[in-house]
Amino acid sequence: MSISSAPSYDLVLAGGTVIDPASDTNARLDVAVTGDRIAAIGKGLATNAARTIDVTGSTVLPGLVEGHTHIFQYVSAVGAPAEEAHLRRGVVAAADAGTAGASTFAAFRKLVVEANPLRIVNFLNVSVLGLIDFRFGELLNPDTLVPEDALATAEAHPDIVRGFKIRLSEDVVGENWESLLKKSVALAEQAGLPLMLHIGETSEPLPVVLDYLRPGDIVAHCYTGKPYGILDGDKVQPAVNAARERGVLFDSAHGKSNLSFEVARRAIADGFLPDVLSSDTSARNWRGPVFDLLTSISKLVALGAPLEECVRRATVAPAQLLGLDAEGYGRLEVGGRADVTVVDWTDEVTLPDAAGNTIVAPRLEPTVVLHGGAEVDIVPWRGLKTA
Ligand SMILES: [Zn+2]
Repeated sequence: MSISSAPSYDLVLAGGTVIDPASDTNARLDVAVTGDRIAAIGKGLATNAARTIDVTGSTVLPGLVEGHTHIFQYVSAVGAPAEEAHLRRGVVAAADAGTAGASTFAAFRKLVVEANPLRIVNFLNVSVLGLIDFRFGELLNPDTLVPEDALATAEAHPDIVRGFKIRLSEDVVGENWESLLKKSVALAEQAGLPLMLHIGETSEPLPVVLDYLRPGDIVAHCYTGKPYGILDGDKVQPAVNAARERGVLFDSAHGKSNLSFEVARRAIADGFLPDVLSSDTSARNWRGPVFDLLTSISKLVALGAPLEECVRRATVAPAQLLGLDAEGYGRLEVGGRADVTVVDWTDEVTLPDAAGNTIVAPRLEPTVVLHGGAEVDIVPWRGLKTA
């Protein structure tokens, strides 16, 4: 072999269909990697590769970004293991949504953020307690909302804290929902960060609650089947569309109890896709009904959402919202991070929602995951029956 024909790429993923919503790419292209960077995206790159993986027939995505999860393992009863639940299923960056509060944040930083290879940020719970145990609402004692503690934590850890979280369900906030919500919005305003609001079984109907939110704030669980969701009959309520018009964002956040196929089907048919498509993975649901982010994407595709739009909402959209686009997450770009998730559609399987319903549909399964150019050891789908 002459010097001039030496391979110029470490690895080429050859022959797949690249879907990168950030660059409006949906085409059959090779992706070449050298070191931890994407070296080229184009046709016929395999001839210059030290190693080639044939991904013909597969779909090549940017490494996924999970906009809403619970990964405070060891401290919170709901914390799933970040690497196994996310990275080893194709997710390279994730936002924990309010599992840690100011009083537990130091442990979150040490045990989760610094101990896992994927990029982790969070929405800090407005209660200093955070979400330690689902049985005990973290705001039933309203004094646990200590704005100065939340603000000090956010200020000291801008690399991690990207917003605040309040769970507004009646069993979490009791009768104090309004004063707690107002204080949460005020502290988010002071910090210059978004507030994520968990709905479903709130004290008041959604339009009442939406009035308190600012552009950029996020409503989690938009397809919940619990009382006070987004629908009125078959249609999305006008107040919900009006909130979206003025910049309030909606996060699908499947979770153990907050995805109804019926609600999602009607909302999608009415043109209402979430701004962020997230799994709301936790220790309570990662073995079902949620499983992982790719399964959450598969469900919405089965209910009528276009794949490319779903991928956008699980890559570049959450990356932008979380300030991770500046670090190169959520896109495939020459010179950018070599984070790539290659997926195949499986045969049809039975997929559950969080409201007792099932659909039969194919699901997306990762076949190759690159993280910083290195191949990740993928774990099997947790819905597979083990012997
Ligand atoms: Zn959640």
